[in-house]
Amino acid sequence: MSMLPDSHGRFGPYGGRYVPETLMPALLELEAEYAKVKKDRRFQADLAYYLKQYVGRPTSLYRADRLTKKLGGAKIYLKREDLCHTGAHKINNAIGQVLLAMRMKKRRIIAETGAGQHGVATATAAAMFGLECEVYMGTEDMQRQALNVYRMRLLGATVTGVDAGSRTLKDAISEAMRDWTTNVRTTHYILGSVLGAHPYPMMIRDFQAIIGKEARKQILAAEGKLPNYLVACVGGGSNSIGLFHAFLGDRKVKMIGVEAGGSGIVSGKHAARFSGGKPGVLQGTMTYLLQDENGQINLTHSVSAGLDYAAVGPEHSLYHDQGRIEYTYATDTEAMSAFDLLAREEGIVPALESAHAIAEVAKLAPKLKKSQLIIVNLSGRGDKDVQQVAKMRGVEL
Ligand SMILES: *Cc1c(COP(=O)(O)O)cnc(C)c1O
Repeated sequence: MSMLPDSHGRFGPYGGRYVPETLMPALLELEAEYAKVKKDRRFQADLAYYLKQYVGRPTSLYRADRLTKKLGGAKIYLKREDLCHTGAHKINNAIGQVLLAMRMKKRRIIAETGAGQHGVATATAAAMFGLECEVYMGTEDMQRQALNVYRMRLLGATVTGVDAGSRTLKDAISEAMRDWTTNVRTTHYILGSVLGAHPYPMMIRDFQAIIGKEARKQILAAEGKLPNYLVACVGGGSNSIGLFHAFLGDRKVKMIGVEAGGSGIVSGKHAARFSGGKPGVLQGTMTYLLQDENGQINLTHSVSAGLDYAAVGPEHSLYHDQGRIEYTYATDTEAMSAFDLLAREEGIVPALESAHAIAEVAKLAPKLKKSQLIIVNLSGRGDKDVQQVAKMRGVEL
């Protein structure tokens, strides 16, 4: 399974490269250069150095005793990606791609961002290496995420508002693509999740796979056996595939991906692609999408901006069809309760994205034996969400 994708960037029927001719040279160059650095000792040593000394890896695998006791079933471990520099796993990928850009002698980085988290990770990595950075963002999102816009500017990035379409992530992606097509000689486009055309889903998975490689070693050292379950939230799918990948060959390890159930599936206001979507092509890849009968992309909803997207990474679509990974969802309400649960029981305020994974653990753990083990990926910390949660609860700060 880890041999996927094939040479055309396909995960079974999913993935591929559905892009205009003008983008092909850029994607082919990236694919060739990535194939080189994958085997290049010097590159891998540089990456390992920055992940350790700058990001703070390895992140800990923390035994959550009070949460375990409270739920009264399986023993729960948290993989602490919230402890990464900038507070989430996204930096793992941003550092990898910035190093790659420098290998390609590209001194300008572009990215697009919805919630701002990927923009911040990219601006951070670009600043650290002294590269020029431009981040595209829908003007609607810029208003909602004013703090992250300012944070990116503090880091020296130019944030460019996109005033087209719904003025959100989809439109920002289109604009970033246009920029890349025009400026490909000097510019590398950093995608934030396992989405888009080949080689992005493969490359970003590889950069995030460090999460599972560490977790596998750590759980074997702590417990002398593999976990029974892995649980992670699924936006584009990078933190989840990052945790799962090293365990895909371990047939007994069950895996659960948790999507955003929003206000519930029947309400139509959600981002649970596997509970209401079907395959189609969006932004260069074939995968499960939330779309209407005419193939128009549906508006999605989630309390958590990082999970609020109409498409899921193509590799997940294959594992869904094969039944290798089970996909479920947590609603906004369930995620909000899990947010409180982890804060009170463990003194850890999770990102609202990660709270979706905790919500699933709260349902699953009590049904399992005390001798069973769950590893849940805590993809990010919740500082960024505190204001929003207060506002939703009518608390004035
Ligand atoms: C962006 C983000 C996610 C969702 O993205 P994936 O690619 O699915 O991992 C989850 N958690 C946090 C904290 C994020 O910032």
